Amino acid sequence: MTTLPILVLNSGSSSIKFSLYEASDGARNRIVEGAVDGIGTDLGKFWIKDAVGEKQVDQTPVLPNRSVAFKLVTDALNSGEVPAPAAIGHRMVSGGPTVLENQRITPQLIDEMESYSAFAPLHTPIAIYIMREALRMFPSIPNFVCLDTYFHRTMPEVVKHMPIPEEYSAMGVRRYGAHGVSYESIVYQLQPNVPDKLIVAHLGNGASISAIRNGQCLDTSMGLTPTGGIISGTRTGDIDPGVLIFILRRIAKATPDADEAADKLETVVSKRSGLLGVSGLSNDMRDLREAIKAGNAKARLAVDKFCWTIARWIGSYVAELNGLDMLVFTGGIGENDIDSRAEICAGLGTLGIFVDQARNSVRGPAVISTENSPVTVRVLSPLEDLMIVNHVVRLMSE
Ligand code: ADP
Repeated sequence: MTTLPILVLNSGSSSIKFSLYEASDGARNRIVEGAVDGIGTDLGKFWIKDAVGEKQVDQTPVLPNRSVAFKLVTDALNSGEVPAPAAIGHRMVSGGPTVLENQRITPQLIDEMESYSAFAPLHTPIAIYIMREALRMFPSIPNFVCLDTYFHRTMPEVVKHMPIPEEYSAMGVRRYGAHGVSYESIVYQLQPNVPDKLIVAHLGNGASISAIRNGQCLDTSMGLTPTGGIISGTRTGDIDPGVLIFILRRIAKATPDADEAADKLETVVSKRSGLLGVSGLSNDMRDLREAIKAGNAKARLAVDKFCWTIARWIGSYVAELNGLDMLVFTGGIGENDIDSRAEICAGLGTLGIFVDQARNSVRGPAVISTENSPVTVRVLSPLEDLMIVNHVVRLMSE
């Protein structure tokens, strides 16, 4: 195989991350990576790093919309300083019930995935926009979609099925999960010694946790949408449905239009809740840790709620897996917030989880369990872009 430059486009609700890899037999070299963040705000960030991690661009542009943001990315890619891509891999949270396999993107496939925007309402619109733009701007190269839901396709029916009337199940309403590309990358990094019984906690701005048996997803916390599961930066996670009905009725009093009321409810549960909602301060763990040091009780409650929820979920997954060999922390909080890892694991000795204080005092990949801990506790980075490159290489050779 010759060397193929492969571009990865990975959009979040208000960010576009990109990276360019040179892929050849067995080798994957990232030659550039970057991101535009803060789309829709005056506080945008745009940065690019070269192959050795040196910042080549570090700007704070005004980013009124995604088209201005994506133009920064394409201008950088077209500057002549990096090779033109031979293929593009797009990360997509959900393609709904009909698009579950990673595959080549066509205009029809984009329309089909767009029809299920409600399954990842914060993520799908920007990803769809970028796919259409990429097909228009790079018409001669193949584009592939890599779905988060792909990793979770192995969940058994009893896990996937929602306890709702059949008419809604028939519309595709079930549990799909998210962060699948990150989970895949953790299993990939553990090869060839993937533990039989593995729990991975992806704790970033969005947070989820998965039970993985023999390298395959058995259960995951996120549901139909990334709002379900454990509490995260601005999202509720799982919540008594009566709370939603209560809030909706309050909203509906001032907002008689049903769609508008539903949009407002979505804003409450997806953008104003979670760590931000409980603390009333921030969705950023670093801010909350600072506030806790200063004695802020609401910040303490938000973080306690976060750690308690995750510990409880770990307990239920140990029961589901019928034991546990390894617990992995990943994502911005999982990799960097030493206190969260310690607080989550503090009461889990009965499950065989013992974290070593000294080993846990570092940021980044490490084994952090004690020498004699029955369960190995590790920290790993999510290598999502690398996984997408691997999928693209595989799909191109099919
Ligand atoms: P996203 O879901 O947006 O990809 P990330 O995986 O980047 O999110 O995680 C963002 C979270 O990681 C934020 O809550 C941030 O505070 C937290 N985080 C990043 N660095 C640190 C750090 N050094 N200490 C504590 N938390 C951190």
